[in-house]
Amino acid sequence: MDIFEAMAGADYEQVVFCRDEASGLKAIIAIHDTTLGPALGGCRMWNYPSEEEALVDVLRLAKGMTYKSAAAGLNLGGGKAVIIGDPASDKSEALLRAFGRFVQGLNGRYITAEDVGTTVADMDTIQMETDFVAGTSSEHGSSGDPSPYTALGVFHGIRAAAQERFGSPDLSGRTVAVQGIGSVGYALCGLLHEAGAKLIVSDIRDDALMRAHEQFGASVAASSAVYDADCDVFAPCAFGAILNDETIPRLRCAVVAGSANNQLKEPRHGDMLESRGILYAPDYVVNAGGVINISVELEGYSAARARHKVEQIYPILLRLFGIARKENIPTYAAADRLAEQRISAIRRSTGFYVGSERRPRNKS
Ligand code: NAD
Repeated sequence: MDIFEAMAGADYEQVVFCRDEASGLKAIIAIHDTTLGPALGGCRMWNYPSEEEALVDVLRLAKGMTYKSAAAGLNLGGGKAVIIGDPASDKSEALLRAFGRFVQGLNGRYITAEDVGTTVADMDTIQMETDFVAGTSSEHGSSGDPSPYTALGVFHGIRAAAQERFGSPDLSGRTVAVQGIGSVGYALCGLLHEAGAKLIVSDIRDDALMRAHEQFGASVAASSAVYDADCDVFAPCAFGAILNDETIPRLRCAVVAGSANNQLKEPRHGDMLESRGILYAPDYVVNAGGVINISVELEGYSAARARHKVEQIYPILLRLFGIARKENIPTYAAADRLAEQRISAIRRSTGFYVGSERRPRNKS
């Protein structure tokens, strides 16, 4: 793989390869763009079959964080880290601390956090070596579990989509089919139930389905049948690539808005939804509640401020739908445009260049 060519293709600023002999650490930190602020993104630990696959993954994820933070209106850039190894057998205090020293060496250009294969306890260990870590267990100012905030953001995303499609954000009497009632999906069901929505739920865990039925009066759809559910809103909250050639023709909803990452199998599936008259609320805008919550931790955490910021997903989505209408483009393309416009406007107004001094982090 030609690394500089790959970086140039999507305008990456910096890729750092980290190696520590003593602990066996092999990690890659990718900083995509820091125009809006320090690059925030989780640290994934995964047993990648090859170094090239690790590199491809970290580059893709870092760029995704740039767009997510920019569209959410945060003063943060996009970055990500991957540690190559099996989290069950290769993780150690020495390895995490070595990683923390590399993060510290970037002097705030990259801020790490929890991701697949890393935990809150791991962030505590990394914090022994660096100031630039979020999502620790610190009683003073930690943002804690992001899932309720992600669910809150999805809830407001669904309200905004309802406003756009039905002319009112009121969800009472609307039917929402939630696919996956794990940490985010279940919390979302609670908010929708409170708002008077009727629920259809699907999951592979019978205990969760039973609980949703008892607590929220939800009806249950078999996991293979949720795409055929007659509903106003389909909320994918389980896994990615579920909007594809097989599922889209089956959908009987007016809106798709959920927490799952990378819902469109390919960009063209966003066009396919559009041509079926289904309003797609872009995933990375709708599910930004978790990263918004973490961003508040960087300023000194307040749950009330985090809620307020997450609620801004509603006006952001309305703006995005407006761009899509005005420019006659699909909503997924309007999300990218929203993010790109914000980055280029700030770049122009500050004369930002890579490596220019970032605001110091105000750590409480
Ligand atoms: P989770 O693991 O707690 O929940 C996922 C649920 O999906 C589980 O209950 C699982 O049993 C269920 N599921 C698995 N296969 C299924 C199938 N075939 N049909 C129906 N249900 C199935 O995960 P989560 O934290 O709730 O995250 C849900 C999604 O949202 C993921 O795609 C995640 O990447 C994304 N997301 C989560 C957050 C967050 O704050 N947790 C933030 C942004 C994006």
